Amino acid sequence: MVCMSTDPLPVSYSIVVPLYNEQESVPQLYVKIIDVMDAIGEPFEIIFVDDGSKDGTFRQLSEIARDDGRVLVVRLRRNFGQTAALKAGFDHSQGEIIISMDGDLQHDPAEIPKFIEKMKEGYDIVSGWRVARTDAWLTRQFPSRVANRIMARLSRVDLHDFGTTFKAYRREILSEIHLYGELHRFIPALASWAGASIGEVPITNEPRKSGKSNYGISRTIRVLLDLVSVKFLLDYSTKPLQLFGVAGLFCLSGGFGIGLWVFIRKAILNEGLMENHGPLLLLGMALVMGGIQFISIGLIGELLARTYYESQNKPVYNVRELRGRRGTNAGRPDPPRTAGAAGR
Ligand code: UDP
Ligand code: MG
Repeated sequence: MVCMSTDPLPVSYSIVVPLYNEQESVPQLYVKIIDVMDAIGEPFEIIFVDDGSKDGTFRQLSEIARDDGRVLVVRLRRNFGQTAALKAGFDHSQGEIIISMDGDLQHDPAEIPKFIEKMKEGYDIVSGWRVARTDAWLTRQFPSRVANRIMARLSRVDLHDFGTTFKAYRREILSEIHLYGELHRFIPALASWAGASIGEVPITNEPRKSGKSNYGISRTIRVLLDLVSVKFLLDYSTKPLQLFGVAGLFCLSGGFGIGLWVFIRKAILNEGLMENHGPLLLLGMALVMGGIQFISIGLIGELLARTYYESQNKPVYNVRELRGRRGTNAGRPDPPRTAGAAGR
């Protein structure tokens, strides 16, 4: 039998939602998204990424995908984390504008049109801004506020809220950005570096009604560390020797200066090296060694930078299977649209 596989039609919008154990939210989330997107009246698709859920999330999603050709379910092999799940969704999306949001109903699909309108003003990225937050103040709001301020300063991107996933992107922008760790919240920073224009729309922040948040205070620390690496990536990834080399030269010249001074004292005044200047001599030696270390790290960094730029196709996730959005093939088991990407 000849089986014609029809490629899905092009769409204007892709709604990308990562889900980890969100079975209580799925039905309502789906209905809400469909209501809003139908009202907009342009072609769209919904990409649900099941990030290794252990509850009924995948079963529910695949039922939805079976009945609705606009839905694609990407099921990851295990829990890879929100950033990797988002990336999997982005990679499988086809819309010209990609809108990402959480699947726990903390983001209200009714706000999607605001993002689309703002995008139509010509922005490359539109970011949600949780004006009034509902999370715990001490463990979530306060650290997030501090992190946002630091991020705005370091990345020179003038946003109030980096932390929310409710965002819209133009497809070209996303295809150029590589996501690791907790990096999804730095997409605007990374994109602005590539020259993207970034807008902001206020959004509401619903309290979580079911399930539980996957994060607590520990995320703040990981985000701050990521911040260091993003700052480094933005400013020095192509020239690490300029950062480490400066520190190295500084130490080296201090060390040699001390050495010179101590030897002159010895030569002229015949002062004992160790007896009279022991601590200073040690400091000088430590500085020289530190300087050599810094310069070596800079050189290794230069090597790594070259590897980094040539190996960016490394996948950060691994797809188990795809369901739905297969046109005429709906309803029968399909070969996966892409094979597992690991190991390439
Ligand atoms: N999520 C995910 N993989 C994870 C953790 C979270 O796909 O390992 C999803 C989760 O289902 C939700 C979104 O990412 O749709 C945001 O997660 P969560 O609500 O736990 O974060 P918070 O809103 O507390 O920042
Ligand atoms: Mg949430």
